[in-house]
Amino acid sequence: MKNVDAISYVTVNGKAHIATVNLLKGITLYGEKLISRNGSEYRTWDPFRSKLAAAYINGLEFDFCNVKNILYLGASTGTTVSHLSDIIGYSGKVFAVESSTRVARELISNVSSKRTNVIPIIEDARKPRSYFSIYDKMDLVYCDIAQPDQTTIAIDNCKIYLKEGKPMLLVIKTRSIDVTMSPKNVISQEIKKLESHSFEIKQKIDLAPFDKDHAMIKAIFCSR
Ligand code: SAM
Repeated sequence: MKNVDAISYVTVNGKAHIATVNLLKGITLYGEKLISRNGSEYRTWDPFRSKLAAAYINGLEFDFCNVKNILYLGASTGTTVSHLSDIIGYSGKVFAVESSTRVARELISNVSSKRTNVIPIIEDARKPRSYFSIYDKMDLVYCDIAQPDQTTIAIDNCKIYLKEGKPMLLVIKTRSIDVTMSPKNVISQEIKKLESHSFEIKQKIDLAPFDKDHAMIKAIFCSR
């Protein structure tokens, strides 16, 4: 079942925190707070640790109602993946791609071994045809890999795995792409790259003050 209203703001001591309904009651991952409200347990979602939380706070409009399967590139130890796992619940799956075996060990021991809706894929996202555990097209591709060719990697993965008309959320770390160019120009350059590959840009969110020189792009994958 999908977690209805899985993303909320919960107030603790007068301060509102973005949070997700915890799929694994009583279990935390990275020191986040657990808060009980109206029969549900919420996990606070740290915008300094998760760029998706930062994007929501800074105005991202994204509704997970029609999202079942997610391809997540750059899963790391699974901080954001775990909140997506809360949001989509047991009716969906997060296919979590991570190339570093050292980091992936933590992803497996702390996240996917406990959350059965997270499928770890220890592969290089530059070789999307090597993900043998993916059997279906995705409703969302999320990319946060901090590489100079991150946009091209995201595009290549979408062409294989994303359903037409469905969204991609791409984190652009401008300093990974070109430290000599202004962050604004790097973002414009990456947006042009997306547009030339049939993506329609819907939102561009600056992630400051949570992440300096980072933006999140919401784009829709149109027909080729
Ligand atoms: N998205 C994570 C989160 O919010 O919890 C943080 C991701 S961190 C900025 C980038 C991750 O991408 C690192 O764990 C790195 O090992 C991984 N990565 C870098 N290049 C990759 C590649 N070619 N394929 C798969 N993962 C890659």
